[in-house]
Amino acid sequence: MSRLPEAAAAALPLLREMQAGLGRKPAATRAALSRLQAQTSAAPPAKKSPPAPPRPAPVAPVVPTGDATTPAILPDRTWTLESLREAALRCAACPHLAGTRRHVVFGVGNPHAELMFVGEAPGADEDAAGEPFVGKAGQLLTKIIQTMGFSRDTVYIANVLKCRPDMPAGSTGNRKPRPEEMRTCLPWLAKQIEIIQPKVLVALGATAVEGLLGETRPMNQLRGGWLDYEGIPVMATYHPAYLLRNQSLSEKRKVWEDMLLVLDRLGAPISEKQRGFFLKP
Ligand code: SF4
Repeated sequence: MSRLPEAAAAALPLLREMQAGLGRKPAATRAALSRLQAQTSAAPPAKKSPPAPPRPAPVAPVVPTGDATTPAILPDRTWTLESLREAALRCAACPHLAGTRRHVVFGVGNPHAELMFVGEAPGADEDAAGEPFVGKAGQLLTKIIQTMGFSRDTVYIANVLKCRPDMPAGSTGNRKPRPEEMRTCLPWLAKQIEIIQPKVLVALGATAVEGLLGETRPMNQLRGGWLDYEGIPVMATYHPAYLLRNQSLSEKRKVWEDMLLVLDRLGAPISEKQRGFFLKP
C-alpha cells in the first residue's frame, strides 16, 4: 500500500509554514498544497486500538495503627464485627505474614458473647480452615467450653495475631508470634473486644497474656486471679496445648479452677458435679 498519504500529512505543517513565508523561500505552490490536502483527506482514517477493558479498582490494603487503648483503625468509622472482619481480611500490615498466610483468622462465635477466649495466633490447622482453635488444642478448648455449659456458638474465640506466624521453608509446626507482630495486630483484637464488650476475657497461655496486656510473668504467677483489660476482668490460664503435653490431673484441675472462677464471675450456675471435676478420686 502507498505511504504517500502519510507522508503528505507529515509534510503539511511544513508546507503551510513555508507558504506563510516565515523567513524561508516557499518550495511548494498553493496548487501543490491543495493536492497534498486532497491526498491527506482521501486517506483512510487511522485504525484506532479498541479501548482497554476497565481494570478492577485496586483493593487498598488496610494497615492498623494505634494501640490497645486507643485503637485507630479508621477511627471515624462506625464498625460492626462483620465490617471489621472484612477489613481485617485485607490487612497487609505484616508483609511477611500476609505473603505466607492462607487465611486471615479473624475470630468466631457470638458477636454478643459474655465470655471471650483469646489465644496467641493461628497454627497450620487454623490457617487452613480460617477459624481459630480447630486443631487438637482447639478440640480440647471446645471440650472445656462445653464442660462449662456453653458452646462455641455462645462464646467468642479469637487470637491476638490474626495471621499464622511464617515458618522457614520446608519446616513444619508452628512458631510463637513475636512481640512486634502482636503489637502490630493488636488493634484488630482491641476493636473486636470493644464491639463485643464481653463480661469476662480468658487469655489462653502466657503469649496471649503478653500480647493482650504486655504482661510477661510466667503463667504460674498469673493464673488463679484476675487481671484487667480496659475494665474487663481477664482470667489467664494455661493454653490447651499445654494440657495436651502435660496430662496430669493436677494441671487439668488448675485450668478447671480458673474456669470455675470465670463461671462465678459471669453469675452462671455451677453444679456440684462441675465443682468436682479433675479432683483426685
Ligand atoms: S498479623 Fe494482623 S496486622 Fe499482621 S498482616 Fe495479619 S491481620 Fe494484619
